Amino acid sequence: MSERFTEEELENGRLLCAAPVEFVLSVADMRQLPAADRPEICFAGRSNVGKSSLINALLNRKKLAKASAEPGRTRQLNYFDVAEGQLYLVDLPGYGYARASKSEIAQWTKLTMNYLQGRPTLKRIFMLIDARHGVKSTDEEVMDILDSAAVVYQIVLTKLDKLKKSDQLGISEQVVAKLKKRPAFHPVVIETSSVDGIGLPELKAEIASLI
Ligand code: GDP
Repeated sequence: MSERFTEEELENGRLLCAAPVEFVLSVADMRQLPAADRPEICFAGRSNVGKSSLINALLNRKKLAKASAEPGRTRQLNYFDVAEGQLYLVDLPGYGYARASKSEIAQWTKLTMNYLQGRPTLKRIFMLIDARHGVKSTDEEVMDILDSAAVVYQIVLTKLDKLKKSDQLGISEQVVAKLKKRPAFHPVVIETSSVDGIGLPELKAEIASLI
């Protein structure tokens, strides 16, 4: 995958993610959003997909995203400031809890939809998919929302280390084949593992290319 980026681009990504990062705030209501005064990216995915682990691994912090998993904050958008004002990284609440009630799902959809439609500085959504499970119908329901909001989403496969090498072959291509007709789908899939660091340099370079 590294062939997609030059050494300089990989280094830019590394530097960006090694810079200071701070939790800013949790947002449950659009009126609480910070000013849209800098580029913003966000991370979405089913609960348990490995989102907190990936954010922590990307930013080299052990517990950053866990702070946002405290009770009450899990249904909110969590804002992180990266590199002293260069970028907002937004952690969207995980979706697809087996026991989520209809009203919780409705609340998630409303918050997410309002956010996506009302955020001109949002450059890209990184949509996390567990490499072992592939794209599920709940993921596709979220992609329907993203397609209608016309914000580009890029698939990040997680937990690659849990697949045998032989099972890793062609998984990105399968995802592309399944999703390529979707209007806001980004055709490059990034394969990652927070445990052994696969794909993190490329994901960092991708993020740095957006600012
Ligand atoms: P979240 O609910 O999406 O924030 O998911 P977490 O980051 O809390 O991860 C869910 C579970 O998957 C935890 O038990 C993690 O240790 C595990 N996990 C997350 N990322 C990886 C990974 O890259 N490889 C492996 N083997 N396990 C992972």
